[in-house]
This record gives sequence, C-alpha cells and structure tokens, in this order.
Amino acid sequence: LYVDHPLGEGQTVPLSREQAHYLFGVMRLGMGDGVALFNGRDGEWQAEVAEAGKRGGTLACTVQSAPLRLPPDLWLLFAPIKKTRTDFIVEKAAEMGAARILPVQTDHTNSERIRQDRLQAHAVEAAEQCGGTWVPEVADLTRLDRLLSDWPEDRQLMFCDEALAGGSSALPDAFAKTDPRPWAILIGPEGGFSEAERTRLAAMEQAHAVALGPRILRADTAAVAALTLWQRQLGD
Ligand code: SAM
Repeated sequence: LYVDHPLGEGQTVPLSREQAHYLFGVMRLGMGDGVALFNGRDGEWQAEVAEAGKRGGTLACTVQSAPLRLPPDLWLLFAPIKKTRTDFIVEKAAEMGAARILPVQTDHTNSERIRQDRLQAHAVEAAEQCGGTWVPEVADLTRLDRLLSDWPEDRQLMFCDEALAGGSSALPDAFAKTDPRPWAILIGPEGGFSEAERTRLAAMEQAHAVALGPRILRADTAAVAALTLWQRQLGD
C-alpha cells in the first residue's frame, strides 16, 4: 500500500478514509494483521493494524522488508490521447519502470489539458500493483518545443517516428548497453509528428529516430513497444 507518510521503526501511519475502507472493508483486515507499505522514499516496510475504524485507522511499522529500489533513469514523453488510452500509457510506463512521465503538447496534439493529479494517482496504483518501492513522477503538460529547447546535453532521445514504419529495424549505435548515458522515449499523437518537429529533432545530436516495426501502431501500443525495446536493449 502506498502512503504519503514517513516510514521507519516505531512510526505510526494514519490512514485516510479510502485506505481504511480498502483495508478493513474490502481486504477484511483486523487488528494485528500485516500490511506492506511504501512511500517512494523509505523502501518497503511491514506494518500491523493498530487501530481500525470505518473512517480511518493507524498502522504501526515493524521492520523494513526491502530497500528503496530506484528505477532506471528513463523518461517517457508522449502526446496525450483519449482519456482511457492516456491512463493506459501512464499505467504501463509506471509498470515498466519509467522514472518520469512527461505528457507533451505537439503540433498535432488534440488535448489542451490533462488531469495531472489523476495521472499521478494511476502511477501510484501501478507501482502498488507491481510491488515497486518507488513511484514515477508525472509532470504537467508541457509543449514539446519548450522541452527540446532546454534538453539536457547527455540525455539520449529515442524518437519513435511513424514515418520510418516498415524501414530498417536496425538500431542506431547509441543503443549500446555499454553507453551509460540516460535516455528518454518520445511517442507522438494520433496525428503523428509535423515536418517542423521532424526537422527540429533531426538537428538534435541526442535524438535517434527509430522504427517500431513494419506497421503503424496506435500511440498506446507504440509506447509499450518502445518501453519494451528500451528495456531489452538498455535496461537492467
Ligand atoms: N497519424 C500517423 C500516420 O498515420 O502516419 C500515425 C501516428 S501513430 C498512431 C502515433 C505515434 O506512435 C507516432 O507518432 C509514433 O511516435 C508512434 N508510432 C506508431 N507506429 C510506429 C512505428 N511503426 N515506428 C515508430 N513509431 C511509431
């Protein structure tokens, strides 16, 4: 269970109404029962139910059961699409171990706004589901050109370009496991990238255009395919 509270020996953790409902109503836990907790900072801690009520309760930390496991330093940039598909991308990126998820507005992105708090909650749920001790940060919607104009010098960018679909599947040399530089993945919107964006990315030394196979994939499929390719090629 994710809690936004410090964890450590002797720590008492208060539960929100929703958490109490989940633990005592849905999971049917009672006094003294055990729960594994994480907060994204202190690793995983075992805790026992110390107080159980309908509207709240407390857990008492006992021992640390796993150290903090940081994800690889990978960012996922993607243009938000329909609500449920955007939720899917955030959930899968969190499961695959992306450290930062950055929704970006591109020339052909439809969506003007996102609910950052909702997407962050999806990332928390995904981290809970896959036993992580860390929660990726979901950033607010930012324009792609703004991000690119201040792009970190050493961060490599896997630019997933639909224009290359069906072309060579060879990966650029930068995809060598021995290269320690951090990476980001960029997935475009349903409308694809504009020629201006392609020209801009082609001029960036850090950007490497790749094809994700012979067919044009939907953006949510492309995100999962790119994360898998990155993990296979460069991940731990
Ligand atoms: N409207 C575009 C078109 O018809 O050419 C397709 C955009 S696609 C649905 C959404 C995003 O997924 C693309 O911008 C790209 O980042 C990624 N993508 C999909 N298929 C891909 C492929 N075969 N290779 C590389 N990227 C791909």
